[in-house]
Formats: sequence, structure tokens, C-alpha cells
Amino acid sequence: MLAVVKAGPGPGFVVQSAPEPTLQPGWVLIRVRAVGICGTDLPIFEGVRAVPYPLIPGHEFAGDIVAVAEDVTEWQVGDRVAAGLVIGCGRCIMCRQGQENLCPDIREIGIHINGAFAEYVRAPASSLHRLPETMSYIDGASIDPVASTYRGIRRLAPQPHEHVVIFGVGPIALYALQSIRAAGVATLTVIARHGGIRTQTALALGADCVVESEHDDPAARVAEITHGTMADLVIEATGNPDVLSLLPMVCRPQARILLAGIFHHHAPFNPAPIVRRELRIEGTFCYNWMDFALSRDLIATGRVSPQCLVTHVLPLAAIGEGLTLLHQRAAIKVILTP
Ligand SMILES: [Zn+2]
Ligand SMILES: [Zn+2]
Repeated sequence: MLAVVKAGPGPGFVVQSAPEPTLQPGWVLIRVRAVGICGTDLPIFEGVRAVPYPLIPGHEFAGDIVAVAEDVTEWQVGDRVAAGLVIGCGRCIMCRQGQENLCPDIREIGIHINGAFAEYVRAPASSLHRLPETMSYIDGASIDPVASTYRGIRRLAPQPHEHVVIFGVGPIALYALQSIRAAGVATLTVIARHGGIRTQTALALGADCVVESEHDDPAARVAEITHGTMADLVIEATGNPDVLSLLPMVCRPQARILLAGIFHHHAPFNPAPIVRRELRIEGTFCYNWMDFALSRDLIATGRVSPQCLVTHVLPLAAIGEGLTLLHQRAAIKVILTP
């Protein structure tokens, strides 16, 4: 089969033929119909994030089941599915609580084991979710990034009277924006470094205000739109350490801050505003089975629309072009169709 292979450390990858995955008990084989390029894939391709080599990355996927292991009874060949990337050990205390995303022995499809930048991928039956008949494979491949923030949003439960600020305009930020809009809040402000198709999309998706921090003061603008009360809930969706110091500046006392970006670098951070204004900071990482199922339903009911974010659909072999578009910020979400 054709696959994108990260052969070793350092930057780069190759598109080459690779052996089809073999089945093991409890697993199914999926013909990949759509797979998204995720922000997490970029450091893997750049060699910034080490993975077990050789690896086929790709974890935001949907497709058709083409084979099932003998002991798998609840799925059949021909079923249209998406799979969560998280595979827990099934035995530790977090797995037993249904929090497999926090399993100390977590394995992730496309990060620790071969993923979906290929014609075929295998996944455990326990990680599968059925796509509604009307849901496209592209929407199915978009459940993963929706679930990645919906988990934290669900826990911090935005209220109708609350003012929300989102830092970032990447796919994670824009999916968070849609989920929060669906929940219904008083105002929603998005803060980006500079303008472009991403900030335009944020406005189109219902942001009340987009602040370009390069030439505007986020704190002043948030004060303006919230009539001085400042934000009740702040979502960090950039993963950029420089943003950390800005977060408390837009908060009201006792505000909640959700760290949803994946940070690859350390940053100095002043804890004084957290203490003095009793701010609450929480992280959120991946999702469990339920977060994924609920995110599928958000898409199925039209509350979250991946179509608004998917700017490019390319064949698998054009992955290099997709990565270039993402680096140039000319794309929001790139979907490959192997
Ligand atoms: Zn992802
Ligand atoms: Zn576990």
C-alpha cells in the first residue's frame, strides 16, 4: 500500500510503498478514506518530536472496515467508522475510570504505532465509532480535533452569561469556538497574532470580536467587549509559550483558564496573578471514548461544521504540498484522501 513513512530522526519523510497492516485479536482493518493533517504531525515531520521509527503518522481519520479479527463480533466489513487515537492499557486505575487518555501506558495511533497516512490502518474495535449515514468521511476525520478541546470545554462548562476568550485561530481554536458557540455564551473573543484567512473564519463562525495582538491590546479590547468585567473563561489553543503571560491579563478574578495547546517548549511564567486573583488553570489532553462520541454528535447535528475549516483536500502523495500550505498559514485544515 502507499504510505507516508517517517523513517528516522531529523526532518523529512518519504511517500513509499509499505506492507499492509496485519490483524490481531480485537482489532479491525480500515480502508482510509480521509485523514487530516494535525498540528501534532508537524513536529513529528520536522523531527522535533521523536517517535518510534519507522512510523506511519496520521491519527485524524475515517474510512470503511475491510477486515475484522475473528473475535470481533460488533463490527462488520463495510461499516463506516472513525477511531479515537487513544489506546489505554485497560488495566490501570485511569483506564478503569474510562479516562484512557490519562493512562500511563497510553499508545496513540499515528504517534506510537502506525497511523492513517496510508491506504490502510488498523485500530482496536474498542476505539471505533460508527459514522451516521449522512456524515462524510471528511467530517468523520474531523471528530478527533473537535474532541480534543470538547473534553476540556465539557468540564469547564461555559454558561450563557459568561464571557469567553480564545487564544489562537488554528483548527483546535476554531473547533473550540464552534463548540462554545453551540453551548451559548454572552460574548466570544478570539485573539490572534495577525489577520488572515483564519481570523476571517473565526468571524464567520460567530466570534463577536477578533483581536490582532500584533497591533492591538488584547486586555483593552476584552475590557471593552465585556464592559469591564473581563473573561470568565479563557481557552489557550496556540501551544505557544509566549502566550502564557497574556492569559491572566484578560481574566476576571476567579476565572477559569483551559490549556488546550500542546506545548513543546518551556516558558517563564509569573504565578502572582494566579494567586492574587484566584485564577484556576486546567489542562486537557486528548479525549476518552465518550468525548469522541459526543463530538461526533456535535458534527452530526450541524452544531460544529468541519467544512468551514477544511480549506484543502489532497491525495496522499501530495502531503508535502499540504504541509507547505500549513507552514505558510495559507490553509486551515488539510485533508488527505489516500
Ligand atoms: Zn490531531
Ligand atoms: Zn491504562
